Amino acid sequence: MDLLINPIVKNFLITKLEDNNNLNQSLLFWGESDLGKLTTAKLFAKSLLCSKKEFGGCNQCKNCTSFDNQWHPDYLIIDFKGDTTKVHDTAKIFEFLLYKPHLSQKRVLIINNCEKLTLATQSSLLKILEEPKNHTTIILITTNPQKLLKTIGSRLLWVRFTKPKQNDIIDFIKNQYPIDSKNLSHILELSQNHPARIINYLKNPEQLKATENNIKFLNNLAKNNFCEQSKLIKELMANLQDKEETDWTDDKEKFIKTNLKKIINDWADNTEREIYASLINNNLLPAPKIKLLKNTVQLLSYVDNYNANYRLLLEAFCITTF
Ligand SMILES: [Zn+2]
Repeated sequence: MDLLINPIVKNFLITKLEDNNNLNQSLLFWGESDLGKLTTAKLFAKSLLCSKKEFGGCNQCKNCTSFDNQWHPDYLIIDFKGDTTKVHDTAKIFEFLLYKPHLSQKRVLIINNCEKLTLATQSSLLKILEEPKNHTTIILITTNPQKLLKTIGSRLLWVRFTKPKQNDIIDFIKNQYPIDSKNLSHILELSQNHPARIINYLKNPEQLKATENNIKFLNNLAKNNFCEQSKLIKELMANLQDKEETDWTDDKEKFIKTNLKKIINDWADNTEREIYASLINNNLLPAPKIKLLKNTVQLLSYVDNYNANYRLLLEAFCITTF
């Protein structure tokens, strides 16, 4: 398994793996979303557990096989995906930290979206990070390190993720995926060179299609009058209502909210991309696009934070934007 990440980060981790004295230090992977932080953390966890400490794992030792079979007693990953941390997940973290390594020489705990940990949990975690004889490497992942306690931050080694260079991305993709240059540049443009988005689009063409449709929908809104906009919004909401739920643990309301947020996110990304393109090509900041981006971000926050009627929010967005 190879990684599409900035080579500086990759080389840093390889060096860290070779430095036996320093392996116990816990890490903070930070940077904007979709840069491959979680994938890298998983790969690095496997490397730390591997008997030969090979980067990416030797794929032969008992540790590597257990890791690949998703059953390694010295490995735990907790992902705070939703809006709130679950007590159950927090309990799992502290239970895991109680034990000594079973199979490997050390234990690895990954906490994704760690900014969602409550302050109380962060304080308890701090006590563990302060223990000198800690045999667990903790990899915390966040897009928002400011939300962590300063005392926690100062105990961690910060690893900043940034986008790889475009040429490195192109070389990587062409080696791994059969894709022609035209489609590749389309994907690079849509994903704004975010590695995780690129890989996601390559592996799941239906998600690429969904993003394209979301952008089309926004363009449709922009060129129509309010009456048509209102009809389009009604159709969109009806489609979301009818959509098959894949995650049965979520209730319908939450499901619609998540999907709507994804659509609005695509709008914001696309508008941001158009603003950059205009800046690069004409050295101009396009006022209508900036207004659109501002209103889209505001709409996203309304949908996220209030239980208002989504159809009304979308209509209000149209009235104030176009
Ligand atoms: Zn191994």
